[in-house]
Parts: sequence; C-alpha cells; structure tokens
Amino acid sequence: MIYHNSVRLGAKSYCYVWQGRGNNCNAILWPSVLRGESPHVLVDPGHVRNELGEPCFDSLTQAMERDGFKMDDVGLVIGTHSHPDHIEAAELVVEKSGALFTLSREEDEFYRTIGKMFFQAFGGKPPQVNPSFYLKEGDLSLGAKNSKVTVKVFLTPGHSPGSVSLYLEEDKILISGDVVFAGRIGRTDFPGCSPSLLRKSIDKLSQLDVEYLVSGHSTEAGSIVAGKDKVKRNFYTVKIFV
Ligand SMILES: [Zn+2]
Repeated sequence: MIYHNSVRLGAKSYCYVWQGRGNNCNAILWPSVLRGESPHVLVDPGHVRNELGEPCFDSLTQAMERDGFKMDDVGLVIGTHSHPDHIEAAELVVEKSGALFTLSREEDEFYRTIGKMFFQAFGGKPPQVNPSFYLKEGDLSLGAKNSKVTVKVFLTPGHSPGSVSLYLEEDKILISGDVVFAGRIGRTDFPGCSPSLLRKSIDKLSQLDVEYLVSGHSTEAGSIVAGKDKVKRNFYTVKIFV
C-alpha cells in the first residue's frame, strides 16, 4: 500500500505528499544529484510507522521505486527539524545506504538535550543519527556540474529551535518544514517552540520569490501552494495567526 502521492515540481524535485490517515510528513527527493553510487538527496524521510501503524517508510520507499529511485541510492538525508514525524526514518536510510545525515547545529543541540524526549513521549525510539556536517544559513551546493542543485538554507526557528527552510531559487520552490503550511502555521506548544521567533521566520520567508510552497504537512487547505499570488496570499493569511 502506497500512501504517498508523487508530485514532480520544477526540473529536479519530487515531492512525496503524505496521504495516510495518521500523521507523517511530506518528503522531498532530489534524485541523481550527488557524485558517486548514492546520488539522491532526501529531505525529511518521516516516520517509520505512525500512531495508526501505517507503514510510512515502506510507503515512501515504494513510492520512490515507482518513480525509478531506490532508497539504497540515497547519499544524503536532510532534516528540516528533529521531530519524529520528520526524521524517525533517517536511521533506516543511513543503515540501508550509508547516507550522510545533516541538520542545523541548533537543532542537533536541541535534539541531543530535549528533542529525544519527543520520541519517547510518542512511543518511539530516537534514531541514532550523527550529522556529518551542519546546515548553515546560506548556499548549500550539492552535486556535480550538470546535475548541480544549489539550495539556499534559511534558519527559521520558532516551531523548533533549529528548524531550517530550503529554497531552490532556480525553480522558486520553498520547502518550509513545519514553519508554515497551506492556511496555517506550525505548532508553537511544544518544548523549544517560540511564537515570536516563528513570526520572524515567517516574515523572512515571505520576502522570497516563491512559485511553489511545499510544507511539511498537508492541511484541509491543501498540500502544495502553487502560484506566486496564492503563495503571497497564504503568507498574508497565516501572519494573522502569529
Ligand atoms: Zn514538527
């Protein structure tokens, strides 16, 4: 059973939009970007299994396979933040493919002190993942010449202390994690949340020229917000909540 709907955006991005009944995040794949035998980059692999027992990771693996991409060929896993519904499966990817793992230093520190307790609170086991490097605000250049992807990394704390958002300037795609969704903002009632920082982060992201807003979760208002005007209106609407 595949619970992910694959949506191709721009030249290089495959979005795997979660369609199950329980909680899990949307994942993004940039296939065939890195040099070597494991060329795919995967953002937010999500849960292994969620609270309803839906096999989230198997579903993502199969959805990718349907598009011709193997989980074993992932060479880098990026976590927008350390919540279980975004990075629980990171350990499995690393185990399967020997992929590197990265997130921001701020988020790694949070994960090692408080964040791990989230997994225990939700009945899961914290993944044993060690970042190979830290995501910093600025350009992250991935891959070789003709398959190169330059990702602009923005530190966007508020939902989590070290959340990052990723922007592909070339295709005007913004991956916002749990900072902003279609018609809603990320929760601010977890440990490490800060409504005032979330507001600043949303302000920062709303300055960007965005054609597709791909957020960490779908809402009743939709999953991917497509079209510059709709994205602008979405930022305008969600600012009411912060
Ligand atoms: Zn989250």
